Amino acid sequence: MKKLAEVSNLEVKFKLPNKELVHALNGVNINIHENETLGLIGESGSGKSTLGKALLGLIEYEGKINLFQRDLDLNNKLLIRNTRKDIGVVFQEPFLSLNPRMKIKNILAEPLVIHNPNISKDEINEKTRISVENVFLNTDYLEKYPSQLSGGEQQRIGIARAIINSPKLIILDEPTSSLDLSVRNEILRLLKNLQMELGLTYLFISHDIHTIKNISNRTAVMYLGSIMELGETKEVIENPVHPYTKALLSSVLSPNPKIKKTQIKLKGEIPKVTSLPRGCLFSSRCPNPTEDCKNGSIERELIEVSSNHYGDKCCVNCL
Ligand code: ADP
Ligand code: MG
Repeated sequence: MKKLAEVSNLEVKFKLPNKELVHALNGVNINIHENETLGLIGESGSGKSTLGKALLGLIEYEGKINLFQRDLDLNNKLLIRNTRKDIGVVFQEPFLSLNPRMKIKNILAEPLVIHNPNISKDEINEKTRISVENVFLNTDYLEKYPSQLSGGEQQRIGIARAIINSPKLIILDEPTSSLDLSVRNEILRLLKNLQMELGLTYLFISHDIHTIKNISNRTAVMYLGSIMELGETKEVIENPVHPYTKALLSSVLSPNPKIKKTQIKLKGEIPKVTSLPRGCLFSSRCPNPTEDCKNGSIERELIEVSSNHYGDKCCVNCL
């Protein structure tokens, strides 16, 4: 299984105007395998988008990011440029991510021209035509403006733009969160078809467990800038090993009786990211924390609980 991305001990801190530090990512370890959909789930503010930005070389970080067998290096501008060509991005709000003053054909041509300065007009026309057809829109759409499209059609254009340079990895940051349920399902179907036809690899970010269950092969659960659980999606949903995953699952209704519903209500509040707990990141909300969790004597790391199913070392021992 080829790894397209290997992230080790990734830390991201943002400095606030008052000099306080926001600890957005706190030791993320994760790989993305070629041709998979890796789901990344967690509540708002857990650091999901920050991980996407770090992969794109948009923010300062500590730790290691290896993409497509090369170590990312923010000082190497050529490398960053090439890396960005190899990563497509789809955002949550399609309308906000499309320039309202540009025709769809120019929106689609933009990444082609940026990354292939010598591209001919004929090639641009050919590639923009193929890309709208790939997302099941007809070529009339090339002459339209974003405001003439429905939300679902706009997101199809967002996807067409993300794949137009044949990227190795596509980061989808809550791509269906602003869409109605029926449109959401259409977009998920489209993404799955494109993945099969074009052999794409997705990092699919969402706060919605139903969406993640629908599309992801593996799922990573993020809490306070750290991965708490990782495994095959079916395993994570049917046999969660982390109390946070259990709480996420028990907060949504499940029609499947096979899924063990352990009702867990979380105590306390998500700690301020300017002051992290000393020990286990989850200790302030854990239903069953021990002294060791709180004093930090257990290392923060993922351990394999069953085949290819990992959980935070401290938390899986608390249960
Ligand atoms: P998510 O995508 O899971 O909702 P984010 O990655 O956007 O979370 O944010 C993680 C944390 O980092 C949040 O506490 C957020 O407020 C903070 N954050 C994100 N970007 C910045 C920034 N540019 N400056 C300061 N804090 C930020
Ligand atoms: Mg986000």
